[in-house]
Amino acid sequence: MSEKGKVYLVGAGPGRADLITIRGAEVLKTADCVIYDKLANPALLKFARPDAELIHVPNLSRATCGERSRTKSRERIGPGSATQDQINNLLVEKAKLGLTVVRLKGGDPCIFGRIGQELTALTEAGINFEIVPGITAAIAAAEYAGIILTDRDYSSQVVFITGQEAEGKQKSNIDWDLLAKFSGTIVFYMAMGNLELIAKRLIRSGMEEETPAAVIADATLPSQKTVRASLKQITEKCKENKIGPPAIVVIGAAADKKLNWLANKPLFGRSIVVTRDADSNADFAAKIIAKGGNPIEFTTIKIKPLTQMNTFLQTLAKIAEYDWLIFTSANGITIFFDVLQKLNKDARVFASAKITAIGSETAAKLGEFGIKADFVPNVFTSKELGKQLIGFTNLQNKKVLLLRSQLASNELSELLDSAGAEVDNVPVYTAVTIKNKCSRLIEKIERGEIDWLTFASPSSAKGFFEQIPAELVNSSNTRIASIGPVTSEQLKTLGLKVDVQAIEHTIDGLLAAIEKIYK
Ligand code: SAH
Repeated sequence: MSEKGKVYLVGAGPGRADLITIRGAEVLKTADCVIYDKLANPALLKFARPDAELIHVPNLSRATCGERSRTKSRERIGPGSATQDQINNLLVEKAKLGLTVVRLKGGDPCIFGRIGQELTALTEAGINFEIVPGITAAIAAAEYAGIILTDRDYSSQVVFITGQEAEGKQKSNIDWDLLAKFSGTIVFYMAMGNLELIAKRLIRSGMEEETPAAVIADATLPSQKTVRASLKQITEKCKENKIGPPAIVVIGAAADKKLNWLANKPLFGRSIVVTRDADSNADFAAKIIAKGGNPIEFTTIKIKPLTQMNTFLQTLAKIAEYDWLIFTSANGITIFFDVLQKLNKDARVFASAKITAIGSETAAKLGEFGIKADFVPNVFTSKELGKQLIGFTNLQNKKVLLLRSQLASNELSELLDSAGAEVDNVPVYTAVTIKNKCSRLIEKIERGEIDWLTFASPSSAKGFFEQIPAELVNSSNTRIASIGPVTSEQLKTLGLKVDVQAIEHTIDGLLAAIEKIYK
């Protein structure tokens, strides 16, 4: 048995992170060291162990074809780029240390992936390796654009070609005359820099000017863009639509067909800014992606637990004395149960107290901790919660505990007070404004590229407009969606017009309100 490690050459799949294979994700989990390309979605690194070494190696020659880097890495080779030799040496060096190495490559590792040189280096060094296939960009891009690459009626053959050979290469491997006559689907990778040349060359070699073509950029990502035109006009159309790499070019009858399954999603092509705290933004963004939209995460607030404060700890010690406990946000519940766990306690601290949740999301969050809410109003605002709870039960001389944000208004406690309850209002958390880099979002709003700003709480509305001028938004075509009346009120106070307000005051309700505009 050799002491050497093993190298897995893993296809990351194109664009979106969940298009990796199960085998790919599994070997990533075992890696001591992950060496990843520019085109491998960095979100995949979440599979890696926390102690795994992550090395970003944007290939030098790739960098020249304009592909972009999506994230910061923990380590880089040289100033943001690596030669193929450096990558080969790195693979060998890490494996020789006895490590399990994952070489993560965009799409499929063996399609235009320069894998030959890496495999030669590994073989020469006697290192064990395994190839884990991935979905290649041509297939994913075509399918996400509704293009079927092969069809028994119009395309019995498909060819994948590198578009980097067209320019001035002395000894080209591409037979342009043959391609011009090819009756099937032609797919070019890495063609954006040479698109004009490629189209001209095909036309000069006899291909019809009117042959359908399609270019799909950022395939499978929320930012995916597709343009279609004749071969003659495709370059111009790409320029008009600012289509850049990474992109796939499809030429042939197949390019004309469109199933548009993705474009039929309700929020397809809509750019929607989410403005909550980082964790909530990630959940919100996933919901937007599921509906075909393009989420832009702008974190406005950080949730700061106040559970270390004496008021909270003293209340917790006597929590069984309360008749009713009221939670008005999922954040409050998560933080409350976090602290219970830290104190080695569990939901039994509630004893026989009844529990109220403000709405469906809060009730679902309680459910995660094994608790079924005793009362949930049918309109999810603090005011309605108060009014409806008073109707539901006699609160005279009952002890009620509000566990919520320090920034919540007094309206609920005053209502409950007026019904004769003894109300304790104990903050579980507060929201602190986070400063963001605003220039990119400001530019996008100015250029009319943002369809919606969404606000799920008054504090995120305040946090956002402390950083982005209200006048900019008012004078743009960006619209504003609010989760409910309290947030809308805050937005109006800040000088903004609310275009839609959710009927059900939840994130799903907020998205439903936006969707309705497009129906
Ligand atoms: N091994 C990769 C291809 C690497 S070559 C694979 O199998 O997909 C790099 C080229 O892949 C890019 O120039 C572009 O043509 C294509 N590509 C990669 N990711 C893409 C994406 N998300 N959308 C469109 N094209 C993509």
